[in-house]
Amino acid sequence: MTILRQPFDRAQDRAQDTARTVLIGLDGATFSVLNALMQDGVMPFLKGFMASGVRAELRSVVPALTPPAWTSLMTGRSPGQHGIFDFFRKESPQSHRIRFLTSRDVGCETIWSLVNQHNMRSTVLNFPLTFPPPPVDGYVVPGGWMPWRQLRLGCHPEGLYDRLKALPGFNPRELAMDMAHEEKALEGCKQDEYEDWIALHIRREQQWFKVLRYLMQEDPTELTAILFDGVDKLQHLCWRFLDLSYGHTVTLPWEQRVRERCLDYFRQLDGLLADIVRLAGPEATVVFASDHGFGPQVRTFFVNAWLEQHAYLAWADGKGPQPSDTQVLGMGQLARHVYLLDWERTKAYAPMPSGNGIHIVRASEQYPHGLPDAEYQSFRDRLIEELLSVTDPKSGVQVVSRVWKREEIFAGPNLELAPDLTLELQDGGLVSILSSEEAVRPRSEPSGTHRPEGILIARGPGLHQGVQLSELSILDVAPLLLYGLGLDIPEDMKGIVPAEAFEPGWLQDRPVRHGPAGRAQTSPAGTGGEIVYTEEDEIELARRLRALGYIE
Ligand SMILES: [Zn+2]
Repeated sequence: MTILRQPFDRAQDRAQDTARTVLIGLDGATFSVLNALMQDGVMPFLKGFMASGVRAELRSVVPALTPPAWTSLMTGRSPGQHGIFDFFRKESPQSHRIRFLTSRDVGCETIWSLVNQHNMRSTVLNFPLTFPPPPVDGYVVPGGWMPWRQLRLGCHPEGLYDRLKALPGFNPRELAMDMAHEEKALEGCKQDEYEDWIALHIRREQQWFKVLRYLMQEDPTELTAILFDGVDKLQHLCWRFLDLSYGHTVTLPWEQRVRERCLDYFRQLDGLLADIVRLAGPEATVVFASDHGFGPQVRTFFVNAWLEQHAYLAWADGKGPQPSDTQVLGMGQLARHVYLLDWERTKAYAPMPSGNGIHIVRASEQYPHGLPDAEYQSFRDRLIEELLSVTDPKSGVQVVSRVWKREEIFAGPNLELAPDLTLELQDGGLVSILSSEEAVRPRSEPSGTHRPEGILIARGPGLHQGVQLSELSILDVAPLLLYGLGLDIPEDMKGIVPAEAFEPGWLQDRPVRHGPAGRAQTSPAGTGGEIVYTEEDEIELARRLRALGYIE
């Protein structure tokens, strides 16, 4: 790789340079939804912004899931490198217990701390895997994925929480996770509760904006990043109200009200985005990005039921977990499969729906009936072949479109902690881990689920105006942000600065520079598993994940 040294160093004349870089994360945002909202006048600001910048589909990682995808965006590195494959990870290579991941498990450096090495600071609001707060020079408020009671502990630096608390109208219960609030809407999907739930998300984004505005006005940093996660949650639970092209018509009065509320969410969000871009100033580089896209899920693949039918899995009680069992989430929820499975007769299983991952039981002292090492490769190959031949009994469609071996997507220092196989389903959906008579069943109504194609919209010095680029990788966002700040790109970053995003001559005058590889985090992945969530917190997190379909 050519290492170029050119006099392009914005850091040097920071005193005169008020330009900043702002990253606005829209969790799960997808052009298939946004384009319609912009066309219909619901998001006029975003429409105008897009016309004055570049846009591209942003390819997520496998699995296209919030924790690995955002971590890839904020590190510029693959899940194998940073070690975040899911919300959870095995406790050790030999173990079949899983635990929630925290910031301590992110195995490589983030852009937040990389900019610190160049005497710049970062503000990081509401990103996953930022609790406990990493040692960043600047501000960190971990948000949507942490219980509100922990917020004081999560704010960095010390004292920040009290400053925020003094802001008029600041409400930590709305800012962070308060399942007592959120679950009201999800229990029976009653019409009025839907509306309340959407309204809560509108208030949540307003709370986050309040924090952002305060910090941008009081003590602006060179890199400012905020994540709005209501987009993802609305699409998960309200897909049929958002995507009218998808067969379902919203006809009843209450359905029309829910749809109107959804549009109101996006209308309000558009207003907040306009305010943030105004606060950033005309010279700022502003990047909108999502971690994955969204689309409808039309059927359910009961992967453990399928494994049982093929005699690769057996339930200890002979019948396995039923849908009715999932109403109660208790302590030890993450280890439920450990006592639900018959380990003498189980060779493969999926512990959670979230990452579509299948774990193979290897023979060991603790699991003497597991698969001997010599049979591992042939067993895995056979399983892949059989999974690819699963078809929807109604339509005849192939259900599993791709099966990844772990070394294909998770190569790196944490490979042994990754699921042995990861499935991609034809409709983009998540598997079910519950017991079922039929392995494949159509859904009565489509629900929203992740798609690999997210969004990137960016505007700033040197960037084209009104240009659509070909697809970019989510790994390209970190280099793009670092380049915008005039910084070197670490050599071990997988992504690149997308040259086609810039006007002719801009990159020639200011060539991309590469610097030394990033440092590993102080507590490397795999060894950093200290407990930071209490049991009560874990139940709260599990409730949130269940509401979105990541836990059953
Ligand atoms: Zn997401």
